[in-house]
Amino acid sequence: MFLGAPGAGKGTQAKQVAERGAATGAPIAHISTGDMLRAQVSAGTELGRQAKGFMDQGQLVPDAVIIAMVQQRIGEPDAKSGWILDGFPRTLPQAEALDESLGDSTPLSAVIYFAVPEAELVGRLTGRRTCAKCGAIWHVTNKPTKVAGVCDLDGGELTQRSDDREEAIRERLDVYRSQTEPLLSYYRNRELLREIDASRSPAVVFEELLKLMQ
Ligand SMILES: [Zn+2]
Repeated sequence: MFLGAPGAGKGTQAKQVAERGAATGAPIAHISTGDMLRAQVSAGTELGRQAKGFMDQGQLVPDAVIIAMVQQRIGEPDAKSGWILDGFPRTLPQAEALDESLGDSTPLSAVIYFAVPEAELVGRLTGRRTCAKCGAIWHVTNKPTKVAGVCDLDGGELTQRSDDREEAIRERLDVYRSQTEPLLSYYRNRELLREIDASRSPAVVFEELLKLMQ
């Protein structure tokens, strides 16, 4: 499981680990609960229909539905030799329910915590810009365009998503701190927690991550 605050880079790293696994013949499935939820809803599966029912009413998808999706995903062929869970659990009750569901059959082998100081997270998230035309994602300092405010690909205007504004970001980080951060001691007590300094460049983090996972 990859654990960390929004902007810590877990999703990007998990995707790279999965791509490398597929290329080297040792597949590791990247289980992003957000992506999986969207895929199941658009494919109209039974679980997707259940999830959509809650979303249409403006409610959160219950933990049991998400855990059922995770269980189903773990059973697919590309997850046989390994998988990374990204984006779930986010609360202590979710972690406990997940533990119970995984049981002794497919227990977590490790929880990798992507540690990034809050000031760095705010910088990463507030600097993100999206092209209004093609949707490409840029960053004012980490991935700048040749001309400020203009997409390199198609000359589209760069905009800042409303949930990338500083106030919204502070709120997301507050929620993370109060709801998700308690998972650190939960997994530390189970001797599953490994920490990686994810404030460094993605390439450096990736190399260290591979070593840690081996
Ligand atoms: Zn563009």
